[in-house]
Amino acid sequence: MDVKYDVIIIGAGIGGLSAGIYLQCKNPELKTIILEQHSIPGGYVSGFKRKGFYFDAGAEGIMGMEESGSIRKSLMDLGFDHEFIRIDPLDVYYHDDKIFALYNSYEKLIEEVEKNYPDQKEGFQSFLEACKTIVKKTKEGKKLPEYTEMSMIKFLDKYGLNDSIKDCFNLFCFWYGATPDELSAYYLAHIIDGVVQGGVFYPKEGMQAFSDKMADFYAAHGGTISYNTKVQKIIVEEGKVKGVILDNGTILNANWVISNADLKRTVFDCVGKEHFSKDYWEAIQRLKQSTTGIILFLGVDMDLSKYPSHFQIGQGLDVVERVRNNEFQLNKLAVRIPANIDPSLKNKEGYSIVAFIFAPYNWKNYWQAGPNKERTSEYKQYKEEIANKMIALIETVIPGLSKHVVVKELGTPLTFERYTLTTEGAWFGPFTFQKLPNFKTPIGNLFLAGSNVSGSGVPPAIRSGLNTAKYVLEKMDR
Ligand SMILES: Cc1cc2nc3c(=O)[nH]c(=O)nc-3n(C[C@H](O)[C@H](O)[C@H](O)COP(=O)(O)OP(=O)(O)OC[C@H]3O[C@@H](n4cnc5c(N)ncnc54)[C@H](O)[C@@H]3O)c2cc1C
Repeated sequence: MDVKYDVIIIGAGIGGLSAGIYLQCKNPELKTIILEQHSIPGGYVSGFKRKGFYFDAGAEGIMGMEESGSIRKSLMDLGFDHEFIRIDPLDVYYHDDKIFALYNSYEKLIEEVEKNYPDQKEGFQSFLEACKTIVKKTKEGKKLPEYTEMSMIKFLDKYGLNDSIKDCFNLFCFWYGATPDELSAYYLAHIIDGVVQGGVFYPKEGMQAFSDKMADFYAAHGGTISYNTKVQKIIVEEGKVKGVILDNGTILNANWVISNADLKRTVFDCVGKEHFSKDYWEAIQRLKQSTTGIILFLGVDMDLSKYPSHFQIGQGLDVVERVRNNEFQLNKLAVRIPANIDPSLKNKEGYSIVAFIFAPYNWKNYWQAGPNKERTSEYKQYKEEIANKMIALIETVIPGLSKHVVVKELGTPLTFERYTLTTEGAWFGPFTFQKLPNFKTPIGNLFLAGSNVSGSGVPPAIRSGLNTAKYVLEKMDR
């Protein structure tokens, strides 16, 4: 039977789900389908269970999810909502003998600096005042080239802040896989303001629950999701997309296609560069991928309720730079204990821990995998060694941890590549701070959504999915 859809969406990442929800909510008569190669929705907003322990597989906090936040409101306007818990403090830093909490309040931040680094208080206060001024002037419509052109690190240096404080604010560079030279003073001021005024949130029952709910909502509004369904080709004839070919050879026809799948794979593997101008495909080819990394998933039979839900061990302003130079060091680690934000995630056996750090994609010749990325015994041995080193580092904060491990798994850059089909296993799609493509491709009825066009982060991916769908709907109506 010749099946024809109004819209095919490739990928049930948060960008694809948002596009689907928008289309079906605005026009329930539409026949849309989301094709997802994995067995679950969410892409990098997902999680999994092992022996009853729940683990988030990617994102660990989402901005803009306060009830007045623009992203949450946009979803609520469509009738979708989910319960969110504010993460406060946003992160806690274990720096040698000091413990510094990155609270979501200007006053509490100043108190933390006064407690840990009293000689820094004055400079820090001036720094926060400067951040507030940047935000205020932006709201007044002023252009601020002195801050858009100043790097975050120069901005922090201007106020004489020490390396430990700089390391805490480096968190915001990590959100983009950027170096402290690449994030601007302007960006930093707006992120700090966003965190203090709005906050960063964790979905009740974990990231997978949020994506599952979005997928269910889409289906309840008449959309279809097909899992374990990989798009092999996007069919283009006479400059127009006709539909897609699945990896089992099935052809699905559509009037419009939105790709939430990896940008380079969409352009080069699914469509084929012959369907684009040389200028277009060369620009896509030149795009740098964002950073990838490793994640350790631990299930432990011990009580971790006294630890912060989000903390960082060690310092590392140069982590991203080193990774770009193909170096991999375990001198810094971000650790998350989700049950300490949402107690419903506590397993009767104990607690889940997720710990991660950036790492190069092609370290040790692609992690000593075989020519077709087969997992060799050397690959497995590296994983074991790295996991044990990470546990040893976490033990500097949680003594005795290694004796309580019930589940131990390590995801490498190759794991991310396999589960999301993202080029180089990049955590945030193409690197944010470069000219990303428009969501409209040169092929009139083929569009892009998600971090392909929005850069890093869940909120921009949601916004992009909604905007792309809105445009497609408007074009359809014309
Ligand atoms: C470890 C980690 C931590 C992060 N932390 C945060 C955080 O705390 N806060 C935050 O805001 N952001 C965070 N991010 C980034 C954020 O998760 C992503 O930017 C965002 O989720 C991207 O969403 P997306 O929909 O654009 O793409 P993706 O999540 O990559 O989804 C793409 C989907 O397309 C599917 N797909 C690919 N190819 C095909 C095909 N050929 N056929 C069918 N389906 C296909 C994939 O399986 C996937 O489901 C983190 C990311 C990682 C990896």
